[in-house]
Amino acid sequence: SLDFIFRSKLPDIFIPNHLPLIDYVFQKFSGDGDGHGDSTATCLIDGATGRIFTYADVQTNSRRIAAGIHRLGIRHRDVVMLLLPNSPEFALSFLAVAYIGAVSTTANPFYMQPEIEKQAKASTAKMIITKRCYVDKLTNLQNDGVLIVCVEDDGDDVVSTDGCVSFKELSQADESELPKPEISPEDTVAMPYSSGTTGLPKGVMITHKGLVTSIAQKVDGENPNLNFTADDVILCFLPMFHIYALDALMLSAMRTGAALLIVPRFELNMIMELIQRYKVTVVPVAPPVVLAFVKSSETERYDLSSVRMMLSGAATLKKELEEAVRLKFPNAIFGQGYGMTESGTVAKSLAFAKNPFKTKSGACGTVIRNAEMKVVDTTTGVSLPRNQSGEICVRGHQLMKGYLNDPEATAQTIDKDGWLHTGDIGFVDDDDEIFIVDRLKELIKFKGYQVAPAELEALLISHPYIDDAGVVAMKDEVADEVPVAFVVRSKGSQLNEDDVKSYVNKQVVHYKRIKTVFFIEAIPKAVSGKILRKELRAKLETEYSK
Ligand code: AMP
Repeated sequence: SLDFIFRSKLPDIFIPNHLPLIDYVFQKFSGDGDGHGDSTATCLIDGATGRIFTYADVQTNSRRIAAGIHRLGIRHRDVVMLLLPNSPEFALSFLAVAYIGAVSTTANPFYMQPEIEKQAKASTAKMIITKRCYVDKLTNLQNDGVLIVCVEDDGDDVVSTDGCVSFKELSQADESELPKPEISPEDTVAMPYSSGTTGLPKGVMITHKGLVTSIAQKVDGENPNLNFTADDVILCFLPMFHIYALDALMLSAMRTGAALLIVPRFELNMIMELIQRYKVTVVPVAPPVVLAFVKSSETERYDLSSVRMMLSGAATLKKELEEAVRLKFPNAIFGQGYGMTESGTVAKSLAFAKNPFKTKSGACGTVIRNAEMKVVDTTTGVSLPRNQSGEICVRGHQLMKGYLNDPEATAQTIDKDGWLHTGDIGFVDDDDEIFIVDRLKELIKFKGYQVAPAELEALLISHPYIDDAGVVAMKDEVADEVPVAFVVRSKGSQLNEDDVKSYVNKQVVHYKRIKTVFFIEAIPKAVSGKILRKELRAKLETEYSK
């Protein structure tokens, strides 16, 4: 049988994915590029302090840092963990690590100590670049020999007493010491953690080739799908440790010569003030932020007329909400993007193209160029035509290389024909627009942040009085989804809901905290031992309709 394969309405383009990421991103500035890069243009603006880094500053600083971390012993293919909030240091560190062919594993700096230790160990990180305020969480790792580099806050002593290397010192290394390793397009450059369609968080190996492809699919070509230009000021409060901000914002901005306004956290009035002050043109958001804009009575106090593009991604956006936010930004084109850590961007609204197409509210875009997409029946695997819902699959050079040290999970996600199975249910309409209607996988998304049920279940059953546990998502007005737990107490145990919550919640970052606990007799399971989450979700509905 022949597959129904969907493609972009834009023609394929040449993608120079033989280049190392850094050479590609700064191609404009090099001899083999068009040589039109303006090194005096603003590259990064630190929203927290007002510091500005030109393209020349960014390239020079990141090369110095690269030489500095090389001097400390980091080599081609070694892993460095970035445990940093959104900041210019995050960007400079990521570029520095990429320069020497090493790998950045990115993590949420708000992670609790056990979460950080798990990822640092699993990824075999040799160095962690962080801020002074997070160093307390790294004592065990430091004792195990992991090098800690510390970004100083203003007023911090540069000479540290806690065995950390100062970031400032690192930034003064001599650029001429920078080695030039033979980077292969297949080398991993970024390794965020994601639970994918099932199980525990895993290291997602994103290669130079994958990331270059993903960026090019969005911003390259005569009619770029995502038309960023050198005149744009792109707002970045979405977390840079997540691939969405790293790929679609930071690196895509650099490729196009735009300015990236980096903000460490989301606070609506502060964001609106920054939009007004820096005449921000592009505002990337996630659905909870859209809700905040829509609900705010203060949007009129600010001049938001510079915004020409508003992009939403990371989770489902309701059509009504999309229509409401359009009214608040009358000058802006609004649209969605859809992607997954493992797959790169899958779809992007063609309303953002240089020569845009008319698009519909609620659609999450059209499949990106230089890629293929199909929709398959979830039981038979048969490929489906337009207007029929099934699992979305995608194929192209932008996909991850695989999960670190986990060929089994890799094979479950990318099949032998190269199709990545997203675990999302959706369809393609008559105008090539994609609509996501459901999620097949167990992943819970709290405001777009990943919560892996398997991770919480493992914590729950590590409690001496818990025999078994199952975690599923509960719908939530603000967060979209929150995790709730079904727990089987051991015989005779008096364990109550608060005991369970406090046990788990002190070990995890805030969005993984269990909202509600239900005690039950047994967790419904298939013969294979797999938790029947559908049944748990049904139980949840009956609990709440009581
Ligand atoms: P992550 O790997 O953290 O980026 O999560 C990827 C998942 O987020 C996807 O597989 C979807 O389930 C969800 N997602 C991302 N973008 C959208 C979107 N525009 N609409 C609906 N769900 C989305």
